[in-house]
Amino acid sequence: MGEGNNEGTCEFWTKAKLFRTPSFIEYHTVVCRRPKMENSRFCVFHTAVEKKQPRDFWFEFFKELNAIKRIRLGGNTWRADCYFKDFIGFEFPDIQYYFWNTVFDHDVRFDGAKFRGPAIFNNVTFKKDVSFENAEFHDTTIFLSPVFEGRAEFEGAIFKNPQDPKTRGLYVPLTACTFKGKTSFKNTVFETGVDLTKSVFEDEVIFEGTDLRGVNYFVSVTFAKGANFKVRRGPQGEKANVFFLDVKTRPGVELVFKDMNLSGWALTHTRAIENAVFLHVDWEDKNELRRKHTWDEIVARGNITGVRESITYDDVAEVYRRLRLNYENRLAYEGASDFHIGQMEMMLKNPATNPAKKVFLSLYKLFSNYGENVITPIYWLTAFTGIAALCLVFCGFPEDAPSIKWERIKPLSAAVFDWPSYFASQWDGIKAAWYAFTSLVSFRAEPKLTFEGATVVKTLYRVVSYPLITLFILALRRAFRR
Ligand SMILES: [Zn+2]
Repeated sequence: MGEGNNEGTCEFWTKAKLFRTPSFIEYHTVVCRRPKMENSRFCVFHTAVEKKQPRDFWFEFFKELNAIKRIRLGGNTWRADCYFKDFIGFEFPDIQYYFWNTVFDHDVRFDGAKFRGPAIFNNVTFKKDVSFENAEFHDTTIFLSPVFEGRAEFEGAIFKNPQDPKTRGLYVPLTACTFKGKTSFKNTVFETGVDLTKSVFEDEVIFEGTDLRGVNYFVSVTFAKGANFKVRRGPQGEKANVFFLDVKTRPGVELVFKDMNLSGWALTHTRAIENAVFLHVDWEDKNELRRKHTWDEIVARGNITGVRESITYDDVAEVYRRLRLNYENRLAYEGASDFHIGQMEMMLKNPATNPAKKVFLSLYKLFSNYGENVITPIYWLTAFTGIAALCLVFCGFPEDAPSIKWERIKPLSAAVFDWPSYFASQWDGIKAAWYAFTSLVSFRAEPKLTFEGATVVKTLYRVVSYPLITLFILALRRAFRR
């Protein structure tokens, strides 16, 4: 805003961004020229709300509106040839604004407008472009099934929906909207979240620098030409939680997620994530889980209350399978590993999984972290070998085991009293252990066993060790595949 020259007219002017500037940003100057209010440099629309009566605004607003209004069936039409086609910088006092069923024939602008009262845009048709750039919505705002036939700009707009769940919605409803032109939510702030349920974006849409707080709903949204997401956190690092459920795209269309943390997003039934592009995205939230996860899992575990969507372990497993496919298709196997673990964990948690499979999964988890850990099977194999060798030593050996003086092997408790002589005397013990080990890993026939148990130990050892070796080889292969 700056100084105007015309005596007696409103001094409000601003630079508004021009529509349809594909390659560079071009501004044009908007001057108000309406009569000034008494004791103000501005007209009744541009004077700050503190310095005017709501009813004066209301009266003038409808006088101007009625002067240019034509009645169409079901609503008002804002004629193209009137100058009252923009609401740039309007200071709307705290009364309710209904634009219900209104058809805007022409480009319409709410750039920098401040709505102190509720603003209702239900069933509005914007036949051309509309801009809410840097607009401020201080009270309940509702966009229920409006149609945006041209471009829709929400760049830098702030939605401060009041947090009173009893009387007002917690999130801004932008539900069942139809966006036919390019749409931008660049740097838009939704202080209490947004609900885009069932909205359709027929052209490109960007959510870059968008500040989503609280719980947001992108349920059954259609992104026909793709969408770009680079959602940022709130000023205190508040994490956005987004129900990105059952989101649809056309075949061959990509969703792009860049430079953001997706651990707060639930992606159930969204097939498009199989082909989505994830650039520098992070999936971990150490407060929730120390591995890559999505919010689906947190919701399914039942740690969240007060949300209207429910997610089952089956759904989460499906999400992880899709994410794993996405990473594996890009040969990013390391990134896929956590999602594979997640998928298995969900099968284990799912009450519908049959018990035998659960036992198998539990063992798979215990012995190799679902095939993702190379070292774990080796630890177990070493432990089992040690135990089996010890058992063999105590079960007794072939009497003709070469050169072992069994009577010289002292019990371990002897070491407590005289450890130097204990270790000096253990050479026969080591030989016995070695004999036991070679007897375990070879198929040689023992000439004569002093105790039947030795055969049992050897058989059990083989039953356990072969699967462990297989797990090791599989994990090794998984770790180094290309
Ligand atoms: Zn003015």
